[in-house]
Amino acid sequence: MKFFRDSHRIVVKFGTSTLTHSTGHLNLRRIEGLVKVLSDIKNSGKQVVIVSSGAVSAGVAKVGFGTIPRTPEEKQAMAAIGQSELMKIYDKFFSTYGHTVAQILMTKDVLTNPIRRAAAENTFNRLLEMNCIPIVNENDSISTDELTKFGGNDILSAYVAEVCHADLLLNLSDIDGLYDSDPRKNPDARLIDRVDVIDDAIYSIAGGAGTDRGTGGMVAKLKAAELCTSEGIPMFILNGHDPEILYTLLDGGHVGTYFSAKKKDAEND
Ligand code: GLU
Repeated sequence: MKFFRDSHRIVVKFGTSTLTHSTGHLNLRRIEGLVKVLSDIKNSGKQVVIVSSGAVSAGVAKVGFGTIPRTPEEKQAMAAIGQSELMKIYDKFFSTYGHTVAQILMTKDVLTNPIRRAAAENTFNRLLEMNCIPIVNENDSISTDELTKFGGNDILSAYVAEVCHADLLLNLSDIDGLYDSDPRKNPDARLIDRVDVIDDAIYSIAGGAGTDRGTGGMVAKLKAAELCTSEGIPMFILNGHDPEILYTLLDGGHVGTYFSAKKKDAEND
């Protein structure tokens, strides 16, 4: 398979369950592993954009809140605390490998307002030209309504891939990919290598929500796949618990579930 090796601009999304322990605190070993592999991928000549969750969880853990925030205001406050914690760690780890990170916090109205959208596109382009690694999250602290909220980072990552004109979206989750039934309940569940059409049959095999610390789940990932593949951007769902599997893709192998792009199939096959 050529699509990873031939992709220049790659958006990589990590979920809260990939970035944090069950305590809510950041999983430093995992983050360091991801940062090392992504630094290497960047060193190989690719452009990398990260969509990172984990702000709310890190905020809760940092202030010892001890429980999932109950009100939107509590959640927004936790996101504000955790976001700076997250960026501090990314900056520290990426600096070790000689890379510069840049924070971008998105609200959904950026997509519908042509001036703001153009500004976002220009900023991404400029940062990538400057060899930086943009790290994106939803601006949880101020996104409160339908107009501003993406409704989770799976959806956000698909829009970021679109705004960045990415060649590929990698959705790193706590599961190996899309299975034909729930692998947590059915030991014979089979991993689906490739999906070309995201229809009701595909949605019907996607289970419910993700962990209690993230908002994702397979349905959100399928919606993200639908969004970006319809814009001509293929997507993988991969298990982020072993960041080194990204090397398998880089070397032309196949891992996870691949969702082919609608417009560029001929180029991707
Ligand atoms: N933006 C949220 C955070 O950083 C995560 C949303 C999600 O997990 O989809 O905590």
